[in-house]
Amino acid sequence: MPDELLERLRRFHDQTFPGIQDQFQDLVERGQHPTILFIGCSDSRLVPYLLTGTGPGDLFIVRNVGAFVPPYDGSAGYHGTAAAIEFAVLNLQVSRIVICGHSHCGGIRALYEGAPPHAINLSAWLELGREAALPVQVSPEALRRTEQRAVILQLERLMGYPMVRERVEQGKMVLHGWHYVIEEGEVHVFDVKSGEFVPASTATHSGTGPYADGDTDNMASPLFNEIDASYARRR
Ligand SMILES: [Zn+2]
Repeated sequence: MPDELLERLRRFHDQTFPGIQDQFQDLVERGQHPTILFIGCSDSRLVPYLLTGTGPGDLFIVRNVGAFVPPYDGSAGYHGTAAAIEFAVLNLQVSRIVICGHSHCGGIRALYEGAPPHAINLSAWLELGREAALPVQVSPEALRRTEQRAVILQLERLMGYPMVRERVEQGKMVLHGWHYVIEEGEVHVFDVKSGEFVPASTATHSGTGPYADGDTDNMASPLFNEIDASYARRR
């Protein structure tokens, strides 16, 4: 059986890399200085570099099922996403954090339909999106709303990280909530003032923060109500 993956590795090394070697050499010598922490869903159709027109050295990326942010609860465990947030903020000193959910998200759908049996880690992880789920029958609109509500929920959890909250409050860091619609090729950015997700093509900014009063103890945010109201207005 031909090893197609090996072929791809060789092609990268032999054909692609020579054209970008200088750029990587520079990044090695000067180190990485990305200004953006991108927290995105693991979905293969979400390609952060394409969306943002960025390249090597530009984005510090964390991806997981659903683009979820675990609560900052002070417990030191194997919290991969939390560790990455700490590194990005404290070491790299990024000035922007993007939470990027997307349309047709399997993680969000699983909030309604459940995870595969024996997926004990996945089931536990999905609880980080549970509050975004709506008490309705699953439908395309319910999924879209849940995807967007989940983004807001994660933004609020981010504000529970002391090092994030401090920088946001000092105006040194901006948080962005994005919902990428795969079939439109468009990111809808969250506007904290209107409580709406606005297509990037008509938006006046790439996302706003901080979020409410940062009251992360009360996860059932008023922002949820605003986004629900915005859906109601569009009907
Ligand atoms: Zn997803």
